[in-house]
Amino acid sequence: MIIVLIGPPGSGKGTQAQILSKRFALPHLSTGEIFRKIVDSGDKDAKLLSSYMSDGKLVPSDFVSEMLKRVLFLPENLKGCILDGYPRTLDQAVFLSKLFPQRVIALHFDIQDDSLIKRITGRFVCSSCGAIYNEYYLPTKEEGTCDKCLGRNFSRRADDNKDLLLKRLQIYKDETCPIISYYRKLGVCFSINADQETSDIASTISRFIEKIER
Ligand code: AMP
Repeated sequence: MIIVLIGPPGSGKGTQAQILSKRFALPHLSTGEIFRKIVDSGDKDAKLLSSYMSDGKLVPSDFVSEMLKRVLFLPENLKGCILDGYPRTLDQAVFLSKLFPQRVIALHFDIQDDSLIKRITGRFVCSSCGAIYNEYYLPTKEEGTCDKCLGRNFSRRADDNKDLLLKRLQIYKDETCPIISYYRKLGVCFSINADQETSDIASTISRFIEKIER
């Protein structure tokens, strides 16, 4: 089963992906995270990726889909995975359906725009283990120390600012929202109210996945 998470930036996809990945022992694949690592490594594609990402724009689908295909066919991902950040356009959704017919389930994170601003501007990440926190909604238990790995270095994403958020939100509405109807028509889309406590969202999603696994 390939579980795709669809939602605007800041809707909690990354946090839920981490929870689900542990609960169902499925790898968590985030295209944004893969791209950020490529940018940090200074690899040959780093400049190209960074020019799109720093501007809040989508990376061209040909590049993303070919890269993702290679990752999805790695032995550790063949039994299924949680895809966070892909597909983001209709052509990416069609590409995925062709690669894995009848194996894709879509979870749609439904949330109003005004809730997203605090979520995005408050977001910070543990530099050691990648755990995601939020200064307003999900702070570390002890200030300055990661709950999970006790790391003390945190970072903020370069694209987590209000102006860029509004731009990314518009791109989400124009490019990504159409894939919700695509998955609805296929009968494989489950919408969740994403403006709830993290643990409530996780329980709702888990119950849904357990039901379809039976
Ligand atoms: P994310 O971490 O999912 O918010 O992604 C960060 C950035 O990576 C996005 O703003 C895009 O520039 C790029 N990106 C990630 N996934 C995709 C995708 N499926 N298609 C195009 N660009 C992507």
